[in-house]
Amino acid sequence: MKLAQAFRKMRSLPRRFRQAQMIARALKSSRHPILAHIIPIRRCNLACAYCNEYDKVSNPVPMAEMVRRIDLLAALGTEIITFSGGEPLLHPDLDALIRHVRSHGRIATLITNGYLLSAERIRQLNRAGLEHLQISMDNVQPDHVSKKSLKVLDKKLEWLAEFAEFDVSINSVVGAGVQHPEDALVITRRALELGFETTTGTIHDHKGQLQPLQSADRAVYEQIQTERKPGFWAFAYDNLFQKNLAAGQPNEWQCRAGSRYLYICEDGLVHYCSQQRGYPAIPLEKYTAEDLEREYSTRKPCAPYCTVSCVHRVAMIDLVRENPRGALAGFFPPASPDESTKIPFGVKALSSLFLPAEDGRPQSALAKAMAAAVMRVLGIK
Ligand code: SF4
Ligand code: SF4
Repeated sequence: MKLAQAFRKMRSLPRRFRQAQMIARALKSSRHPILAHIIPIRRCNLACAYCNEYDKVSNPVPMAEMVRRIDLLAALGTEIITFSGGEPLLHPDLDALIRHVRSHGRIATLITNGYLLSAERIRQLNRAGLEHLQISMDNVQPDHVSKKSLKVLDKKLEWLAEFAEFDVSINSVVGAGVQHPEDALVITRRALELGFETTTGTIHDHKGQLQPLQSADRAVYEQIQTERKPGFWAFAYDNLFQKNLAAGQPNEWQCRAGSRYLYICEDGLVHYCSQQRGYPAIPLEKYTAEDLEREYSTRKPCAPYCTVSCVHRVAMIDLVRENPRGALAGFFPPASPDESTKIPFGVKALSSLFLPAEDGRPQSALAKAMAAAVMRVLGIK
């Protein structure tokens, strides 16, 4: 298993480079979507009791129509295209669609319940060029609410650890409706043991709004935070959004849904997100640069208690773009009011390359030249 993990790390280097390019482009301009979730099929093979994103009858969106939608997203400049559902692995042409995303030079990712994965299916996804896969798990043992359970999916996780050449992330959940809060910790530990990224979401209602955490949920959440050693963005995300949500507090932020994040439903309409379908509900082929610009600054009343983490993460890039030093201070807050912000060395080094000095002095000629060289290496003009 260790060898497979080392191999996967090595194979991921070109992907990391492409991700760095994507972030550099997103930091340079706010005029294109960073992430789009696209639904190739609304049907799902499970029936989680809390879910409002599936049915039992829909046919797959025809291949030609999906290709057209991917072309439209690429024309808008969308950086990451994620297949979601329903259960996207039920779409018969999913691999060809992943290839089509890659043919545009975009990042192709997938959110699945994992039930249809096999060793061979994982190899097929490798060959198609998939770059990231996320599975969300609700409990250890299946129950009447959800069968997205570690016990059922553990073998699939082992196959992913052994065969996947793409990044794998396992999301666990805490909050109201979860019968055994400690399950999230068991799932996180197993995912870490297998070398996967981990995230922990908070349960939301049918509008994506926070359901307050009880003390047992909060204790589990805090224990997970001490064990998972998050990377830069995950650490910053926790400080900026997740800590408040875990404490039942609102977040002060600008939701960029409809602009930097798009949700394309099975009917080809653009919505803010899966929880706010119906706004603005414009057909993708009619979605223009003006729509992107309008929604960039439209205030969404659901923002303070929103739990849609992928939209939070997208918003973080624009926080850095608009006020880099302020964003860094929020990402790495002092542990107590008497301490100053503790920004990690690597981030400090990058800041000195790309940002004017804190005292307002302009960048030195050397820093400017080095920053230009980094952008050239990334292929950003
Ligand atoms: S697996 Fe996902 S899409 Fe299917 S019912 Fe459960 S939460 Fe909804
Ligand atoms: S704040 Fe944005 S992402 Fe969150 S529920 Fe509202 S529209 Fe969706």
